[in-house]
Amino acid sequence: MKRPVIIAIDGPGASGKGTLARRLAAHFGYAYLDTGAMYRAVALQLLRGGADPSDPAAALDAALNLDTALLNDPELRTDPVGDAASRIAAYEDVRQALMVFQRGFATNPPENAAGAVLDGRDIGTVICPEAPVKLFVTASQAARAHRRYLELAARGEAADEAAVLAELQVRDTRDQTRSAAPLRPAPDAHRLDTTNMAIDDAFAAALAVIAAKLTPPGSPV
Ligand code: C5P
Repeated sequence: MKRPVIIAIDGPGASGKGTLARRLAAHFGYAYLDTGAMYRAVALQLLRGGADPSDPAAALDAALNLDTALLNDPELRTDPVGDAASRIAAYEDVRQALMVFQRGFATNPPENAAGAVLDGRDIGTVICPEAPVKLFVTASQAARAHRRYLELAARGEAADEAAVLAELQVRDTRDQTRSAAPLRPAPDAHRLDTTNMAIDDAFAAALAVIAAKLTPPGSPV
């Protein structure tokens, strides 16, 4: 059997990487894994159990005994859960606990899919450094804060754009400066800045990168 194609997509919050990853997976018929949702689910389990995200032992316990039903919980997308997720994501042993599943998903995607698209912060650097396609999706903090603000408003959640920006800055700094798998592009990642791009443009740009990476040199295009 052919080895599955792995598409690794990393980037900061609200960069558009999730939408792009989902769309690429649907386009190619590949399996999709939102690894951020796994960190969020661990955080939600911890918060619901009344534990503190600054308690590494409680975080590891939640990661090792994760109730996967939480991956579909509506509370997963709220800001307090995102904030707690970025705290527990700094613990090396929590990351190790989730890594096994993530690597297995990439190398052996569900339903025998011919490939897998994974998005997160460390897919290209730690989880799948061997992935033939790596995208690092970015956008300015102001553009990302605006997108997150619109997302919250669409869900009927009152939000103040300046507060959303401040929260995003805290999370960016924490994700970039932690010692365990900090957010950074893999050396061979293709950077895609979506600040001034609609999702259709970002999708077209990603398709072009993927075609170039997956087409063997010398073969007819
Ligand atoms: O992408 P999302 O905002 O859902 O991720 C929530 C948090 O989970 C991030 O702020 C980050 O700290 C953490 N995360 C991570 N590694 C991943 C995916 C997410 O550290 N692969």
